[in-house]
Amino acid sequence: MIYPWQASLWESVQRARQDKHLPHALLFTGEDGCGNTDFLQTLAKSLLCLNPSGDGMACGQCRSCQVFGAQAHPDFAAVSLQEERQAILIEQIRELNYFLGLSRSYSPNRVVTIVPAERMNINAANSLLKSLEEPAPNTHILLLTAHPAALLPTIRSRCQEMRLPLPAPEMALAWLQQQTLQHPAETLLAAAHGRPLEALELDSTDTLAQHRQWLHHLGQLAQGEGNITEISAHWEKYDKTLLLNWQLDCLHALAKQEQLPQQPASFPVELQTIRKGGVGEQKLWAIHEKLLELKKLATHPLNPRLFVESMLMLWKATH
Ligand SMILES: [Zn+2]
Repeated sequence: MIYPWQASLWESVQRARQDKHLPHALLFTGEDGCGNTDFLQTLAKSLLCLNPSGDGMACGQCRSCQVFGAQAHPDFAAVSLQEERQAILIEQIRELNYFLGLSRSYSPNRVVTIVPAERMNINAANSLLKSLEEPAPNTHILLLTAHPAALLPTIRSRCQEMRLPLPAPEMALAWLQQQTLQHPAETLLAAAHGRPLEALELDSTDTLAQHRQWLHHLGQLAQGEGNITEISAHWEKYDKTLLLNWQLDCLHALAKQEQLPQQPASFPVELQTIRKGGVGEQKLWAIHEKLLELKKLATHPLNPRLFVESMLMLWKATH
């Protein structure tokens, strides 16, 4: 599947393919939550297809397309993190190198994908270098990463980099509105920082409701209401980094509103409450600074309850 915001990149890749200029090693970069793995899969299927259509899409009918759909394509290999592993290991790349030395079965090309590419450990990455330097004919190595800076420079220099874009807000919203949703598309998209596939995923979990509940509690405290001990008890089991990020997002949204003469009608009611509670520009930055200090401790708080309580204290009304 190709999403509307990927259309122009798809066209340029297919043009290069038709002109027989498609580099054998492509490094796709782009933020998670935007459908980038779908793009990669679609491209792999298309490169293997025996009868692709004019726009480069796989036909879906040929023998290659059928075995690809059944995840049994002899000319395709996908390298990813093995269960419970934090890194892609050298054994996996060695297997891949062996695969690249085999003769092709029936597709015009051989395709491999490596996702997430930045998770190759140093030995795995070094082992891939030779295949990148001396590619077997009719071979495409497709790498995908959200963190290109974490890749070895020697890997990056041997690949052609292509950026998978974050969609323009209007385009993301238009796409999201076409999906079947339980929550308003605008709210989902804002919570997902403009990443449409992440927004869609949020819609099917209760994360969004929790997010609102958290903001509601902050609003209560800012208004001088609510019991901080009870509220801390409610949140102590939640992911501390997530709670911190929600607060930072909230501060950014409030700071942005400070600069506008009038609040738009879409400004969430929870944020309005926090603002009315006296969280103005000066207090915003004071909270911001303290949150960044707390962020360093968030992955291993000594006492989760106290940690949450110290975050919540920042929002408490001082008058
Ligand atoms: Zn086909």
